[in-house]
Amino acid sequence: MSYIEEVRSAVAVRNAGQPEFMQAVDEVLATIAPVVESDGVYKHNAVLERITEPDRQIMFRVPWTDDDGNMRINRGYRVQFNNAIGPYKGGLRLHPSVNLSIIKFLGFEQIFKNSLTGLPIGGGKGGSDFDPKGKSEREIREFCQSFMTELFRHIGADTDVPAGDIGVGGREIGYMFGQYKRIKNVYEGVLTGKGLTFGGSLARTEATGYGLIYIMQEMLGEFGDGIKGKTIAISGAGNVAIYAAQKAIELGGKVVTLSDSDGWIYDKNGVNLDIVKDIKEVKRGRIREYADRVPTAEYHDKGKVWSVKCDLALPCATQNELTVDDAKKLIKNNVRAVAEGANMPSTTDAINAFQANHTLFMPAKAANAGGVAVSALEMSQNSQRLAWTFDEVDGKLQNIMSGIYSAVKNAAATYAEKFDFVSGANIAGFLKVAQAMIAQGV
Ligand code: NDP
Repeated sequence: MSYIEEVRSAVAVRNAGQPEFMQAVDEVLATIAPVVESDGVYKHNAVLERITEPDRQIMFRVPWTDDDGNMRINRGYRVQFNNAIGPYKGGLRLHPSVNLSIIKFLGFEQIFKNSLTGLPIGGGKGGSDFDPKGKSEREIREFCQSFMTELFRHIGADTDVPAGDIGVGGREIGYMFGQYKRIKNVYEGVLTGKGLTFGGSLARTEATGYGLIYIMQEMLGEFGDGIKGKTIAISGAGNVAIYAAQKAIELGGKVVTLSDSDGWIYDKNGVNLDIVKDIKEVKRGRIREYADRVPTAEYHDKGKVWSVKCDLALPCATQNELTVDDAKKLIKNNVRAVAEGANMPSTTDAINAFQANHTLFMPAKAANAGGVAVSALEMSQNSQRLAWTFDEVDGKLQNIMSGIYSAVKNAAATYAEKFDFVSGANIAGFLKVAQAMIAQGV
């Protein structure tokens, strides 16, 4: 049995009942063999055993009262996965589906993603099975304060710096930051994605979506092509989806779909983002309202956006939302390239189908790293007690995405196949962290 197979079996036994975590581990282990099996140093230092076991897994009770005065209980999580190259860094997710397996898959992915950015940030993730949907402003605030009342003792500007994710945007980060400051009496950059008046970075809101489009441009640029004139299918209608759409439209693309967990819209004329933002960011409504306001748009509560003919597909909602059947539909419709805005949105079979068809495919670790990259820039600005301009941050983001593309492409060409960006991202991300772990000896 190879070293990788040995570790894979042991990790599966130790983490039984955690399918999302195993899916993420399998994907990485399946691709790093050319590096790991060619040099005994990794086995000698137990690098794979160490990198698949979080440094720390914190689970806690989060009590809060609803508007009817009932005491409610949720479970909070923070998994501090690996800090070989910097403080733990990764988002907080508030969604009823959240469990330890999901937080661990996200934290594990985050190690490699953060490494790819070239910035000094380790991997972590957290959240709760709290469902923010339909909750009042007061309930959200109380939940966030209660969540931070436990989390504060585990995090810090040089220890662990959480950010947003599904269900956690500027509002929730603000409430959590306020509670942290109140308990610790320290004003520090302990969270990113903060409001602009209290340490937030310009372009952080846009960063993940913009970064996704920048790396798509790099990938298409390889063939003298670009976003201009492309028909684009996007899933989701949250932070990542909206700002990916914004940059794509700015660069001359036509975004024809968006979705939420109830259904999806198709607008053959290209979506009107002002209306989408009003529905989602201002009114916190449902995507179906778009079709009420735009007569030419269709709303579907069955099926998925992937049945629509498009040149570029950007899954930006959640994990495993794009299955092998969806991949086959996209391939049949001649999709040119796929880039993952969400974390692990494509199933393993879907990725295999894209690769077998030689569809250009950029995995989440590389494609959505722009968000955490600008979060790291927010940390830098907080440390310096400075605020950079939008263009300064956006310029750095473009350079970072371009650097990620080169690193992924070079690792693919060196260790795998020329356009195998899945292997390229895993290997490039792994090498830096593994070297640091070996050098540090623990
Ligand atoms: P938001 O909460 O802003 O939006 C999420 C969107 O996806 C919503 O439209 C939501 O619909 C939809 N969605 C969520 N869960 C499901 C589900 N189970 N089924 C169908 N639709 C669903 O989150 P973000 O845009 O921030 O995050 C989207 C993805 O991008 C996640 O995978 C996240 O981990 C990843 N990501 C985010 C980064 C960031 O900077 N925000 C950085 C890197 C990755 P509904 O409102 O109905 O729930």
